[in-house]
Amino acid sequence: MKTFAKMSSTYAPTLKEDPAEAELASHKLLLRAGMIRKTAAGLYSYLPLAWRSLLKIEAVIREEMEAIGAQEMLVPMVTPAELWHDSGRWDKYGPELMRMEDRHGREFCLGPTHEETFTDLVRNELRSYKQLPVTLYQIQDKFRDEMRPRFGLMRGREFIMKDAYSFDATVEGMQKSYEEQKEAYARICERCGLQALPVVADSGQIGGDTSVEYMAIAEAGEAELVWCDCGFAADTEAATAGIRIEECEPGDMQKVLTPECSTIADLAAFLKVPEAATRKALAIVTGEGKPAVVFVPGDHEMNDVKAEHAFGDFHLMTDEEIEYYGLVKGFMGPVGLPEGVLAFADESLRESEWWIVGANEKDNHLVHAQRGRDFVIVDDRWVDVATAREGDACPRCGKPLHGARGIEVSQVFQLGTKYSESMGATFMDEDGKEKPFQMGCYGIGVSRTLQAVVEQHHDEHGIVWPVCVAPYEVEVVPLDVKGEVYDAAVQIAAAAVDAGLEVVLDDRKERAGVKFADADLMGFPYQVVLGRRGVKNGVAEVKVRSTGERVDVPIDAVCEWLAQKIVPQRMR
Ligand code: ATP
Ligand code: MG
Repeated sequence: MKTFAKMSSTYAPTLKEDPAEAELASHKLLLRAGMIRKTAAGLYSYLPLAWRSLLKIEAVIREEMEAIGAQEMLVPMVTPAELWHDSGRWDKYGPELMRMEDRHGREFCLGPTHEETFTDLVRNELRSYKQLPVTLYQIQDKFRDEMRPRFGLMRGREFIMKDAYSFDATVEGMQKSYEEQKEAYARICERCGLQALPVVADSGQIGGDTSVEYMAIAEAGEAELVWCDCGFAADTEAATAGIRIEECEPGDMQKVLTPECSTIADLAAFLKVPEAATRKALAIVTGEGKPAVVFVPGDHEMNDVKAEHAFGDFHLMTDEEIEYYGLVKGFMGPVGLPEGVLAFADESLRESEWWIVGANEKDNHLVHAQRGRDFVIVDDRWVDVATAREGDACPRCGKPLHGARGIEVSQVFQLGTKYSESMGATFMDEDGKEKPFQMGCYGIGVSRTLQAVVEQHHDEHGIVWPVCVAPYEVEVVPLDVKGEVYDAAVQIAAAAVDAGLEVVLDDRKERAGVKFADADLMGFPYQVVLGRRGVKNGVAEVKVRSTGERVDVPIDAVCEWLAQKIVPQRMR
């Protein structure tokens, strides 16, 4: 039989002070409210209250997956290296992959994602087009040895993910499976109370608009995005925007002494030109091991993900490498580059003839350097690498883009035959031919979603859980823990449970102030406060956490009142 929980026996060790280890409000609050604890860097324990919320998020996911016919299952977290050799990822996936050996020296990894395992699973047994489409998913811990695990659950080394994989016979089929997942993901965000935006994401080697990320909009988000009133939105890792180019006046190329101008801001101020009229130079070593300098508009940055598409596994040169290749840090330019150093430039600069650039000499820049006359960028060295930013032109409608930050909570992906081909996963099609599956993959960061909800729903007093994912919907707070007040509180709690609500009773022998503060910190959506006078008058005070509103409700009507408010908010 269902009953209410008691705060006295709930393991939720609260903290009075903000923990030093936390920067984000959501991280601080989850720690302070006794919901999570760090076991080691990037490894967190979910305490009972957070776990209840997590299970609710999972329940929403399960419902939405069931609604589109995806089937839940579970594969091992541990994946044998052979599967990753089959797909070619064993060597490509860097140090983020947690690798290990068994006692016989056989290699394995802890799954950071499971395309290989699922593809392997179907490759010998899902045989006919008649059985397709199939979408399988699981909810499981994932492992990534992140370079910088941080922000609590946001970037862990072990975290909970829901990952789904679709197998279709045709490209159209795959697109349909993808659209269904994408729509389900939008509903999942909404039902969890997240204000999230689908944005065009980097789709790796596959190209095209074949991947979307859901971004929970938040100042504290690690991802940057641009969006437009026309509906366009993209991760800056993927956005190709129209960059407005500025340049210097035409003229004879001139060397200018620019001491102490090694940054774009200094240089622009010194020359009295907008930053956009200068050219930012980045020294890299390309994936093929070639030294190069990449030019982007002075007011833009080079994007790592875009640069990886252009240059492969590149790296920025160290100071030693810069010196080794004969370059001068802070004063690099396309005119007179050292022998063997290649010049690349962002596509946007194709429009510009007159550049302000470093002179490849300490403390000197060149103005009126004319492309074509003083230097050239050869044809195949124009690359799309600049990070789109606020104010650039929308690629769809041309209006200026807005910038925002977000938390990537989920991503959907059309994979095509990337894994099915490399791993030899085929089926027999209608025409009697063996064909590789058309696949899609779909991931939700379940634990990251939990924290993203807190990031979007809190105030200075604590967490403000949306009803759908609150650990408990109602907390009953008696101001006495014995006698008629307590008895009345127990009755209300029991009746509320009977009415189908999730209830915790704060039966601790604490001062009222402590109970109120904890109730706000833990963020229960409805708090029913009961004191002596109230019991005498037959009235309870209900505090609505999200609005701060306090309502006097007759004790005998309180459960009905609560149910009327709460049930519609569950969105089940
Ligand atoms: P990020 O760019 O933030 O590193 P990702 O694009 O590498 O994430 P995916 O491979 O798309 O991540 O994984 C699917 C989902 O898993 C992400 O949308 C995110 O919600 C979650 N996720 C990924 N890495 C982590 C992590 N280190 N900690 C917590 N959640 C994560
Ligand atoms: Mg992603």
